[in-house]
Amino acid sequence: MDTTIKLALIINDPDLPAALRVIAQKVQNQQRITFDEGVYLYEHAELGYLGVLANHIREQKHGDKTYFNRNFHLEPTNLCVYDCKFCSYSRLIKQKEEGWALTLDEMLDVVKKYDAEPVTEVHIVGGVLPQYDVAFYSALFTAIKKHRPELHVKALTPVEYHYIFKKAKIDYATGMKLMKDAGLESIPGGGAEIFHPDIRNVIAKDKCTGQQWLDIHEEWHKLGMRSNATMLYGHIEKFEHRVDHMEQLRELQDRTGGFQTFIPLKFRNQHNQMENVPEVSVIEDLRNYAIARIYLDNFDHIKAYWAMISRQTAQLSLNFGVDDIDGTLDDTTKIYSMAGAEEQNPAMSTKELVELIRQVKRKPIERDTLYNVVTDFTDVVFEGDVKPQFYKLPVIN
Ligand code: SF4
Repeated sequence: MDTTIKLALIINDPDLPAALRVIAQKVQNQQRITFDEGVYLYEHAELGYLGVLANHIREQKHGDKTYFNRNFHLEPTNLCVYDCKFCSYSRLIKQKEEGWALTLDEMLDVVKKYDAEPVTEVHIVGGVLPQYDVAFYSALFTAIKKHRPELHVKALTPVEYHYIFKKAKIDYATGMKLMKDAGLESIPGGGAEIFHPDIRNVIAKDKCTGQQWLDIHEEWHKLGMRSNATMLYGHIEKFEHRVDHMEQLRELQDRTGGFQTFIPLKFRNQHNQMENVPEVSVIEDLRNYAIARIYLDNFDHIKAYWAMISRQTAQLSLNFGVDDIDGTLDDTTKIYSMAGAEEQNPAMSTKELVELIRQVKRKPIERDTLYNVVTDFTDVVFEGDVKPQFYKLPVIN
């Protein structure tokens, strides 16, 4: 059934609370919902209702297109001067026997390993260490661009930038300009966690504040550049904190238009200092994607990391507002497996990812970092395939 018809049924359902019908009407009219309405959705809206609204918005924006990109991860170190309570990845400097810290040449060797691969992006993120400073990262970005000019450098978060700029005694505007001149092309969404200080000061108290995270992205956007945003959800935060987080992103996006994608990140409770905090359910994951799609009316894309939430939940999420599945991965990233991902050493080939998307009747589109179409895989037949495999409804006798 067409999403518009489903939405109309909700708007005219006399059994639904008036507040939910008002929100559905706003979605139909492409009007923005308020902070209080966002909290109301988290508290009262059931999954089916949220799916109709979020899928309507998703299909208005993108139809059946589902984006992915081919990238690889470069993780300079898992040692870190910070000690975020939720972090399963980092090792404090005093535990350095459990960690790694690559030199510039070793990092370039990682990049060179992909010379023959059709990747379009290197995603660089890791821990924070004093030796990785402004000069080091400038040299790294420049060397990567010199080696492979067409490879898009997406690197570091405001956590690293705040640290290295403070150490270099330069302001954010000057620092981001230096990074851009060195070869940086976009910023991933990490380090946002939850902006509200009541939560941030408990789970990530020493690194950049929520406001500093936003300020660095704003300076980057002022240079005409693009970035992403994340939210770590499902731990000790309340619904109000999630909406506050999205409200601050929405407000900055109104001013700059520089964000491309919002990526909800599920808190996992393995191998970190919050093992006593239960994880939220798959239902809550899907509700959260849907509410993000409804609330962030000025964000083009909502992305799911399949490695973090499982392949099947990623497929389901495509009906709850998600239009981008984080792409083909190999073992270049340790972040997922160390944080309790659904699969140890998650890896998926392009063919597998394309089939994953096709199975739920969506159109797989390979994109570059800036969402330019690289390949439309809708009708591509892979070697060995007879034809694209679509999900078939079971026959009921
Ligand atoms: S989340 Fe990032 S900043 Fe915090 S301890 Fe882990 S690697 Fe360091």
